[in-house]
Amino acid sequence: MDETRPGRPASGAAQVRLPSPEQEIRGEWTAEQGVRLILKRDDLIHPEIPGNKWRKLKRNLDAANEQRQQTLLTFGGAYSSHIRVTAAAGRIFGFSTIGVIRGEEHLPLNSSLSCAASRGMRLVYMDRATYRRKREPDVIAQLRKRFGDFYLLPEGGSNELGVWGCAELPREIEPPFDVICCLCGTGGTLAGISAGLGEGQRALGFSALRGGQFLAGDVSQLQQATCGRVFENWSIEYDFHFGGFAKSTTVLRDFVADFRARYGLTLDWVYVAKMMFGIFSLVERGAFPSGSTIVAVITGSDWDPSR
Ligand SMILES: *Cc1c(COP(=O)(O)O)cnc(C)c1O
Repeated sequence: MDETRPGRPASGAAQVRLPSPEQEIRGEWTAEQGVRLILKRDDLIHPEIPGNKWRKLKRNLDAANEQRQQTLLTFGGAYSSHIRVTAAAGRIFGFSTIGVIRGEEHLPLNSSLSCAASRGMRLVYMDRATYRRKREPDVIAQLRKRFGDFYLLPEGGSNELGVWGCAELPREIEPPFDVICCLCGTGGTLAGISAGLGEGQRALGFSALRGGQFLAGDVSQLQQATCGRVFENWSIEYDFHFGGFAKSTTVLRDFVADFRARYGLTLDWVYVAKMMFGIFSLVERGAFPSGSTIVAVITGSDWDPSR
């Protein structure tokens, strides 16, 4: 083993906590509507590689090892948690990491990117037009010319191996449930969860993006590529993005504060809080029949409470 590489695979893997725990939360609103709400605490899977990011990375890291790749290259926006988490995973499991960031460099780095940089990730920037073509062979060939060989992780870690990883989630849940909810950024998590459901269960995604309607097509494509079919047990809510990705409002901030006061859990505002607000709203509207058990996947943790 090359001593200059910082990885400590054994101890990093030892920190992984699976299956992640479940936690039921109760309030007047659940009692009134006759529903149960269970949190699937994927935020507790790993201190630096939480939630769906661990599920999506796991098989990809194995594949990178099998292919004897030493470098992971991936893509993301300036607030991408996938970028941050890939940087952490690289450090822990002994890969160098390159993050290709959409748009121009803005200095000083925001807290998300400086976190990635502090984990040793090399950050490079790609103009938006080229970024849109990032899956095309000529763009990837240019990157290989510039950086040498690497294991390519797509944006969000959402490839077939990532979807398979997420498909394991529903089977871990002990109590019988009717609906499972998750937040959608690229849709890989929803694609996997839906593929792992049993008879009669449904998956409900909440878009973190404004104008996220394209997500339905992406989820279908990922399922087709991974499972050879598109499942019909899922749908997406588009109305809880609070202005768009990494945007927030007073209403959302108050919701996060109130949830923390009631249940002692600080919801990550970029992703999880928007889903949870959406679930509360749908429950209040009576969107779930009385007697339903709803699982809310806490896909990540609030990594930077200062914001
Ligand atoms: C990345 C992320 C998501 C989005 O997952 P996708 O598979 O890209 O849809 C949801 N929640 C959290 C906490 C995340 O970090």
